[in-house]
Amino acid sequence: MSRQHFIEMLDAYAEEGRMVQLWLRDDDAIEPTPALSQLLGLSKRWDAPLTIAAIPVHATTALAELLQELPLISVAVHGWDHMNHAPASEKKQELGLHRGEAAVLARLAEGLERITTLFGDRAVPLLVPPWNRIAQPLLGHLPSLGYEALSVFGPERVETPIRLVNTHVDVIDWRGTRGGRAMEVLYAEAAARLDAGTGRKTSLGILTHHLVHDDAVWAFLDDFFELTARQPACRWVPVRELMSGA
Ligand SMILES: [Zn+2]
Repeated sequence: MSRQHFIEMLDAYAEEGRMVQLWLRDDDAIEPTPALSQLLGLSKRWDAPLTIAAIPVHATTALAELLQELPLISVAVHGWDHMNHAPASEKKQELGLHRGEAAVLARLAEGLERITTLFGDRAVPLLVPPWNRIAQPLLGHLPSLGYEALSVFGPERVETPIRLVNTHVDVIDWRGTRGGRAMEVLYAEAAARLDAGTGRKTSLGILTHHLVHDDAVWAFLDDFFELTARQPACRWVPVRELMSGA
């Protein structure tokens, strides 16, 4: 039972004085919806910071007004318009080199500016590439555009010119049902992340997409927040803490 295994790993972390820095990144927000309210309700109920990756060109002032009232919420930059520029033979990508480097960098600068203008104090200079993909040659330019960190999916690679704040467990079965993945599978992946941690602190990022959540996803999130709230090794941290490497 991987859920039980995850709990045992958290107990071991606590005994060793180690900490799990939990964070949740939710992608594709553009406007207030009932599903977004349900997600934000989890933040409120469990006093947990959440990060909303909003699509700059489509994000509405109504979304900004909603999130400006919520100090636990951070808003990251989800590309510019979430359009695919890769040919059909490649995986979908907005931030590839298909349009040339300069065109993409101009959009990324605009994206950060728009999110900062719209969301004010809630905005964080964190780039979340659509489909979790960005061309390697662009990475070195991100700091000069004002970005302090990048968030994709999977283990953090050792050598990047910008700090990585990744997510590690994706609740959606994109290649199969496009619904929520089984709870036991999600806990197995969470446990594997803890198992791979070597330092005093290990980050564990949950990736969600509120617009496509089914009952299975909400059930997992309810369970995960309740479980981690009781675990002394767990702390839900604001993404700024991970971005600064604290
Ligand atoms: Zn997206």
